[in-house]
Amino acid sequence: MSTQPNGKPKIAFFDFTSCEGCQLIKLNLENHILDILAHVDIVEFREAMDDKADKYDIAFIEGSLSTPTCIERIHDIRRRSKILVAIGSCASNGGVNAMKNNFPIEEVRETVYKEEKYRFPTLPAMPISAVVKVDYEIHGCPMTIEEFVKVFKALIMGKEPIKPDSAVCVECKLNETECVFDKGMVCLGPITRGGCEAICPAFGQFCTGCRGLVSNANSNGMIDVFTSNGLTVEEAKKRMQLFNSYNHGKTM
Ligand code: SF4
Ligand code: SF4
Ligand code: SF4
Repeated sequence: MSTQPNGKPKIAFFDFTSCEGCQLIKLNLENHILDILAHVDIVEFREAMDDKADKYDIAFIEGSLSTPTCIERIHDIRRRSKILVAIGSCASNGGVNAMKNNFPIEEVRETVYKEEKYRFPTLPAMPISAVVKVDYEIHGCPMTIEEFVKVFKALIMGKEPIKPDSAVCVECKLNETECVFDKGMVCLGPITRGGCEAICPAFGQFCTGCRGLVSNANSNGMIDVFTSNGLTVEEAKKRMQLFNSYNHGKTM
């Protein structure tokens, strides 16, 4: 995979509209950082260095796309990257940023920017895959170090990273965790992509859907389950929109 004279692949990290939490996770790689640096050259990473490069073997992208500038920039990065990986919920499915898509964009501009609204031409928030080809996605808000390292190692070794696509409920059952529905809560596990070891139910919390929708998610069935467990349709939709407004916008 190398384009470097020293034989190491060139790695870059970029951020778009986000809280930068997924990037900060990378700065906490502690136990893995020396291992990683031995095998790659990090050539661009705004939060940690000033250097820039022209081409990248792997570009990791955090954040969703929400301005015309974001769209120009992601096309440019895509053109210069052999492999492009979306990291975290904002980049892989629009994440919390896409909650604004539930309102008319003019209303959003007016509410947030007031008289400055024409200086900040905000768009409905989009995942990276809405604009350019994404090779891999690392889900979660934030993504976990463990999953990042797994995908990173696979790519460096030229292997295909695992793409989790079963519901959180599957991991919950495999771990023999008590279902939170039995404790009077409602949970998005049945339609949410697993890969997190169902960590929230393991700690007695319901899943809020941070890893996005599993393929072929039955959103309307989930609303039925929520309403038969005491939520109004409006409350059910709000729960489902927290991390998945971009996708639910098309299905609900
Ligand atoms: S996925 Fe979550 S932690 Fe990561 S950048 Fe978005 S809001 Fe922040
Ligand atoms: S707690 Fe949530 S994820 Fe676990 S089995 Fe129940 S509904 Fe599924
Ligand atoms: S259980 Fe749900 S909310 Fe918790 S980490 Fe997993 S996908 Fe995210």
